[in-house]
Amino acid sequence: MSDFAGKNILVLGGSRGIGAAIVRRFAKGGGKVAFTYAGSKDAADALAAETGAEPVQTDSADRDALIAIVAGRGALDVVVVNAGTLVMGDPLSLDADAVDKMIDINVRAPYHAAVEAARRMNDNGRIIVIGSTNGDRIPFAGGAAYALTKSAVQGMVRGLARDFGDRGITVNSIQPGPTDSDMNPADGPMAATMHSFMAIKRHVRADEVAELAAFIAGPHGAMITGSMQTIDGGFGA
Ligand code: NDP
Repeated sequence: MSDFAGKNILVLGGSRGIGAAIVRRFAKGGGKVAFTYAGSKDAADALAAETGAEPVQTDSADRDALIAIVAGRGALDVVVVNAGTLVMGDPLSLDADAVDKMIDINVRAPYHAAVEAARRMNDNGRIIVIGSTNGDRIPFAGGAAYALTKSAVQGMVRGLARDFGDRGITVNSIQPGPTDSDMNPADGPMAATMHSFMAIKRHVRADEVAELAAFIAGPHGAMITGSMQTIDGGFGA
């Protein structure tokens, strides 16, 4: 498979879960892939050994470091902003600093990374932000702050698509539903509740999300922009 041969690709937050599946997919497609991670050095090193992708330790909450990493990759063809965290619970008792850090990682970082990537991105480049079906629907208590971050991604994607469209650059969000990962294990305590909201009652697999990213980033994705591509087994239906 060589659908990304010669492409310069950066995945922000690629050491585990959905991000790692996306790194695998683009590396398998022949791309020159780099990915960031925050704390999971062992996982990052193992993924690098498996795929040949280049790991870079950068905390997405550190805006200036994030911008420097994106700028340092030069003219990108594809950037995927996957890094995200989940802080859930009663808003009356959630730690305010934890909520703000989630907003830094899930909202501020995608905005600054996307803008910085676009500064020197090749024409017809692709910017993909991993949002969530919870940007559309949050059918249980305790998810307001997380939903806030994923709804914010929607506005960002719509606006940036218009800012960069004259260069053929597309800007989209992929909105997974419950996806098997460390963040949301398919056998975790919330699984049955999650499945009760879905038409197809199983977790999404990370490789299914990665294939959608590959489609959007590939030649047939040229006219998909400013859109939310939901892959959630009907969670939001
Ligand atoms: P995981 O927790 O399994 O993995 C998160 C990845 O993001 C890790 O590689 C982690 O790196 C990286 N990351 C987290 N914080 C930072 C940071 N501050 N700086 C750099 N990298 C960071 O999560 P998922 O794979 O499940 O989630 C990936 C994305 O998908 C998130 O944006 C999430 O909100 C979204 N999503 C997930 C769903 C799910 O059900 N799993 C559903 C809908 C959306 P490290 O380990 O090195 O810190």
